[in-house]
Amino acid sequence: MPGALVIRDILKYSSKTPLCRKEAGATVCLACRHYCRIPEGGSGRCLMRFNEGGELYAPRGYVSSLNADPIEKKPLFHFLPGSGTLSFGMLGCNFKCSYCQNWEISQTLKDPAAPARAQEIKAETLVSRALEEGLKILVSTYNEPGITPEWAKEIFFLARKRDPSFRTGFVSNGYLSPENVEFMGGDVDFIKIDLKSFEPEKFLRLTGGKLRGVLDSIKYVFSKGIHLELVTLLVPGFNDGEKELAGTAAFIKEVSPEIPWHITAYHPDYRMLEGKAAKREDIEKAVTAGRKAGLNYVYGGNVHSETLDTFCPACGDLLVKRGYMSVGEIRLRAENSEGYCPSCGKKIYGVYNSRGGSGSVIGK
Ligand code: SF4
Repeated sequence: MPGALVIRDILKYSSKTPLCRKEAGATVCLACRHYCRIPEGGSGRCLMRFNEGGELYAPRGYVSSLNADPIEKKPLFHFLPGSGTLSFGMLGCNFKCSYCQNWEISQTLKDPAAPARAQEIKAETLVSRALEEGLKILVSTYNEPGITPEWAKEIFFLARKRDPSFRTGFVSNGYLSPENVEFMGGDVDFIKIDLKSFEPEKFLRLTGGKLRGVLDSIKYVFSKGIHLELVTLLVPGFNDGEKELAGTAAFIKEVSPEIPWHITAYHPDYRMLEGKAAKREDIEKAVTAGRKAGLNYVYGGNVHSETLDTFCPACGDLLVKRGYMSVGEIRLRAENSEGYCPSCGKKIYGVYNSRGGSGSVIGK
């Protein structure tokens, strides 16, 4: 990457944040549910937020990755299907998952093998690029957006100032705090949350965080009316037991059977290299179980399969036909950002418009 920054530079790309509480001799970071108490000169568990002179500093002003991605890649199937996004990542994470597929940017400073490369950029430049490319959805993703909400807010706010039709979101591990969600306020339209395991011990071992925190985030985000979709990366022998998947489905149903649940196929990566990749049959079995448990929208991912399509939960009609990270046909009727089944009129969870990206939404 020409003009790339190395880590000693990246730490300069930080500014004071109000998302903290001051205590005697320390600041408590309020961005995620670790709530790190950081003494002067120290940094939090993510190593990206630090206390200098009694003030908490948070990263801004760079990206580690910047790509035009289809929204289906996030994966989000119920938010303006068929649309393109401009997706940006930074560095660092508050988790330490051994199968992380983005470890080269998420494990910066924790793992010496993570290269920690990034590129300086201004929020104005990023928004201009989105406008030039006709990408009206901005997504903070690739690493954990919950540790850098200030930078996302700056970009999202500026984008909407230049064009109010911009939509914005996070692809998160779900450990972001309620204070973080409040801080983002109306500046975030959707959040995708990972539900990596439904067993507290395993969850803690994998991530270093508490399962309860993510479950509480799911309830909180949904209660705030922010569009929400969930993802479980299915790892054979780790989280694919029938009991565990049934527990996950029951929890989601209790929050709302309308929340889309993506069950995506694991492949060995990073430090979890000995496991088997999930097969198409594993995904289809888990998706079928989720649907039988009473969830309205359960999808497979990372495999070519019919489990990518959306059907009306009331009459069973096909509503959205998808390919691998792409949309074929969209048959929903869109009205005032809401979607309806064209056959029976049932309201379909999500945000839709009559432009419908590359699809063919029936609009008003
Ligand atoms: S974002 Fe989370 S891990 Fe990072 S300093 Fe704040 S509370 Fe700690």
